[in-house]
Amino acid sequence: MKAIRLEEPGRFVGLDLEPVSGPLRPGEALVRVHRIGVCGTDIHAFRGNQPFFTYPRILGHELGVQVLELEGSASASYGATGPAEGIRPGEYCAIEPYLNCGSCIACRQGKPNCCVKLSVLGVHVDGGMRETLVVPIRKLHPSKTLALDQLALVETLAIGCHAVDRAGLREGEFVLVTGAGPIGLGVVQFAIEAGAQVIVLDINGQRLEFCRNRLGVPYTIDASRENVLAVLAEITAGDLPTAVFDATGNGRSMASAFEYSANGARLIFVGLFQGEVTFNDPNFHRRELTILASRNARPEDFTRIIALIEAKRIDTSPWITHRAALNDVVKEFPLWTKAETGVIKAMIEV
Ligand SMILES: [Zn+2]
Ligand SMILES: [Zn+2]
Repeated sequence: MKAIRLEEPGRFVGLDLEPVSGPLRPGEALVRVHRIGVCGTDIHAFRGNQPFFTYPRILGHELGVQVLELEGSASASYGATGPAEGIRPGEYCAIEPYLNCGSCIACRQGKPNCCVKLSVLGVHVDGGMRETLVVPIRKLHPSKTLALDQLALVETLAIGCHAVDRAGLREGEFVLVTGAGPIGLGVVQFAIEAGAQVIVLDINGQRLEFCRNRLGVPYTIDASRENVLAVLAEITAGDLPTAVFDATGNGRSMASAFEYSANGARLIFVGLFQGEVTFNDPNFHRRELTILASRNARPEDFTRIIALIEAKRIDTSPWITHRAALNDVVKEFPLWTKAETGVIKAMIEV
């Protein structure tokens, strides 16, 4: 079978791997990969600035697949009965790429997204940039109507969905989302869905325009040329936003979130920064802020997103800006790492 592997930073190779052989174990599914979404994690791995990442690695964790073979039911595997109960060969699915242990403190609390032994497909173990793959049945999220592209977008959207869920947004409140990359855009869509008044902050004018024109965001701020605090105060009649999401993974940006929030606000750190974020304690205390981390997504987020796309409450059409066949990934991928190509989401077809 064809596969693409990242050998070391900056170097993909095309491979001809042995097809998956031998019997499946109980609770496993063999799937045909049809679509792979490319995200920031893949780009960091390619650039070599993904800490703790080991090479070589087959990337790919945003997957639209078709079930080829199943061994037993979803409940035959460890942990709670999966969402894929009753699934049949031939069905199309999104994959929840977070492989969890089922028994640690986080798993026991229904938080497999932050399992102590979490292993993410395409990050910690080989992922989906290949024709077939074996995954736990309970990680399959089927849909009878979603297109393959849409199935591959579910994971990206799930990150935003989970972050918005963590915040418990109220209708009508002002919400700031910093960072208009795919993760931030996911947050934006679910914040709008929750009825919040969304403000997006970025330094990329093209992305802010995308937010206004394609996602219907009412307010955007370009930090490269506007006084952020003054504009925020103006939009919110002096109150400042009551929920601030940071989807930049930039330490400076995360630290400034403390300045941009209203008294009593929640800060939700979605983007991951490999370092220390510091803040002024009186500033934090005076506002009585709540800081929340948001990591990956929960199985319920996948189920909910699929239902929302099926009901046409979430529109995925603006997302995909670039597309390539698996064979062309080695050549095309480097272009997707450049902001000037206007890439929001690149989709690989297998
Ligand atoms: Zn991703
Ligand atoms: Zn666990």
